[in-house]
Amino acid sequence: MSDRPKELTLAEQAPANHECRACGYVYEPKKGDGKGNIPSGTPFEELPVSWRCPVCGVPKSQFVNVGAVDAPSGFADNLNYGFGVNRLTPGQKNLLIFGALALAFLFFLSLYGLS
Ligand SMILES: [Zn+2]
Repeated sequence: MSDRPKELTLAEQAPANHECRACGYVYEPKKGDGKGNIPSGTPFEELPVSWRCPVCGVPKSQFVNVGAVDAPSGFADNLNYGFGVNRLTPGQKNLLIFGALALAFLFFLSLYGLS
């Protein structure tokens, strides 16, 4: 909640993913980089300066921090297979929940109207 500013969300605690601006490869600290002999659990910040994108070979400086998008739901593996579904923000999730509630309420009202 917003009244506890000092507590980090799960997403903020997890090491951030970094995306290659050249080819879209995403470095996930949880997975590491097998090709570059980077063990899983290595944060992007601790990669050697000589580390390069395993797909297209650009240097670290071409990567951008995209946050730990998978942290809240834990569907890290799915991120490779699709875009969007697992990246819902809390606001979007709330919208879904409230939308469902509104539909349920309308359904309830319609039942009431029939009796
Ligand atoms: Zn790349």
